[in-house]
Amino acid sequence: MQLSLVIPLFNEAESLPELTAWIERVMTAHGFSYEIVFVDDGSTDNSWQIIRQLRQENPNIIALRFRRNYGKSAGLNCGFAKAQGDVIITMDADLQDSPEEIPELYRMITEQGLDIVSGWKQKRFDPLSKTIPTKLYNWAARRMSGIQLHDFNCGLKAYRRDVVKSIEVYGEMHRYIPVIAKWAGFRKIGEKVVQHQERKFGVTKFGMERFINGPLDLMVITFVSRFGKRPMHFFGSVGMLMFMMGGAVSLYLLTQKVLAITNGAIFREVTDQPLFYLGLLAMVLGTQLFLAGFLAEMIARSSSERNHYHISETIEGEGSKV
Ligand code: UDP
Ligand code: MG
Repeated sequence: MQLSLVIPLFNEAESLPELTAWIERVMTAHGFSYEIVFVDDGSTDNSWQIIRQLRQENPNIIALRFRRNYGKSAGLNCGFAKAQGDVIITMDADLQDSPEEIPELYRMITEQGLDIVSGWKQKRFDPLSKTIPTKLYNWAARRMSGIQLHDFNCGLKAYRRDVVKSIEVYGEMHRYIPVIAKWAGFRKIGEKVVQHQERKFGVTKFGMERFINGPLDLMVITFVSRFGKRPMHFFGSVGMLMFMMGGAVSLYLLTQKVLAITNGAIFREVTDQPLFYLGLLAMVLGTQLFLAGFLAEMIARSSSERNHYHISETIEGEGSKV
């Protein structure tokens, strides 16, 4: 099968028939073999009934339904697990992403050898309150991840099958799938300008909290990917630095006082000097960081993923026969 279209949805009943018809039109026009994987993320409207009806007319539709609302990331993760196609395309169910983009996305993966192609909603049809923070957030994501994408959180993306089978999306990490994939070793990440439309039915499912949670998630991904398997290198080096700075300050104060006493000069009590408290604080914090490092190492050690690596290819031998 050439294509899997993974579509997470939460209360999108009105959009589904139109979306499905549109996808079918594009797929038949290009003669793709495909499947549509609907993931109903615990909708409380009649989305699921509609999916059942649509399936009766189109056997290429498969679907799964969460008992409750787990979030878009959970939907994508389970959709990825189900997907069978050579190229997996994710899109939103709200008709904001256009299925017309699919053939070109497919071509970019199969012919240009890209691992991921991310959509870029260059001309967005969303309120300003959303587009301005988004610019800032994409800039931060570019700086932290080193991936030159304009629009990390675009719902419309295409992946080589390998990619989605090797990564795990959880929490609200769907905003950073290119970053997760990069850390899993997939570096050929491309971008395509895509059409974007205003939401026709229903309402957006994400509010302002995304702009607080988003950057926090980015920090988590970056930290876990870099230091997840060796946390002491992070905590230990920062802790050591702080402890040494504190130690140097204390030593300085001490020698100052000793010198003053031996010279018979006037001196201030060590505890009267602000610097002393700074030094003390630095030493205490340094020790705490060290401790955090040891604890993190012990957690990492007992993790079942401590020896989990992404192997892309292997060559097996017959072994020498006697
Ligand atoms: N979605 C989901 N679970 C949720 C929230 C959203 O599956 O908990 C789906 C939603 O139905 C849509 C896609 O994720 O298909 C993108 O959501 P939305 O259009 O609300 O986001 P926006 O376009 O405003 O960023
Ligand atoms: Mg939308």
